[in-house]
Amino acid sequence: VKKKGGKYASKAQPVRQAAVLGAGIMGGGIAYQSASKGTPILMKDIKEDAIELGLKEARKLFGKQASRGKLSVEGVAEKLANIRPTLSYGDFDNVDLVVEAVVENPKVKGAVLSEVEQQVSDNTILASNTSTISITRLAENLKRPENFCGMHFFNPVHRMPLVEVIRGEKTSDAAVAATVAYAKAMGKTPIVVNDCPGFLVNRVLFPYFGGFSLLVEKGADYQRVDKVMEKFGWPMGPAYLLDVVGMDTAVHANAVMAEGFPDRMARDAKTAIQVMFDNDRLGQKNAKGFYAYE
Ligand code: NAD
Repeated sequence: VKKKGGKYASKAQPVRQAAVLGAGIMGGGIAYQSASKGTPILMKDIKEDAIELGLKEARKLFGKQASRGKLSVEGVAEKLANIRPTLSYGDFDNVDLVVEAVVENPKVKGAVLSEVEQQVSDNTILASNTSTISITRLAENLKRPENFCGMHFFNPVHRMPLVEVIRGEKTSDAAVAATVAYAKAMGKTPIVVNDCPGFLVNRVLFPYFGGFSLLVEKGADYQRVDKVMEKFGWPMGPAYLLDVVGMDTAVHANAVMAEGFPDRMARDAKTAIQVMFDNDRLGQKNAKGFYAYE
């Protein structure tokens, strides 16, 4: 792990025009953040309604800034104009860096990355926001794997400062440098990490969730555990955090960790998290997890 990626930043060309593939929770957040900090961004999806939702979220966030007096009405319009929604690859030949933020499926991501690679210039950097898929594996079918790396944002993008920049086996220093520079231009704190299951954050977080799950399976009261961890100084306890992450995402990420670290992360028994998932208690996304939501 190389802290903050400082040694890379000096080598980078600034990103003048960015693009994001996928206008979902993450793609919409990435478009907002880029636009907010002044880097124009194309936001491409395959569905018109997804684009509408992405734009609605951006409008809401800029509106909040205006209501706090941080942006004028003209300021909001100016920032919003930095986001160019599109259903096609027109203008992608002028893009310096593309963040791929489509669904977490290796086949879909592989196809989308190969597709976009044909639309951009030879120097364009491609970065995937994948949470769990190996960057080296995603690079397998690319013609220019040296131009590809991971750029892992956290949800909600506008509030979470950290971005993991992930180096695959073939990723060049120039690709890392450009991605680090773009993350900084977006007001984020990038760290450069090697490609491994869970990267850095999930590698720390999922053993912690596993410890919490074991406690609950032994009869611990999850609300008390949450209160204890809050008293310990964490902004929220593990049960609440799992509700934010989503039980589906947690089960999937845990399976990736179990495959990567079978001796430490694989368990025969059904975890409390799996039981929650099996009972359709997904967390905040369906308003019922460890806690109930309005
Ligand atoms: P989402 O389902 O909200 O959005 C995915 C979007 O991709 C949808 O709008 C879909 O229409 C679009 N899409 C699908 N195929 C496409 C294509 N070929 N071209 C363009 N758009 C396409 O998903 P999300 O939660 O935003 O997650 C996106 C990525 O970010 C995943 O890889 C996920 O693992 C990662 N991620 C998610 C979170 C999170 O908390 N949600 C956090 C970090 C990383």
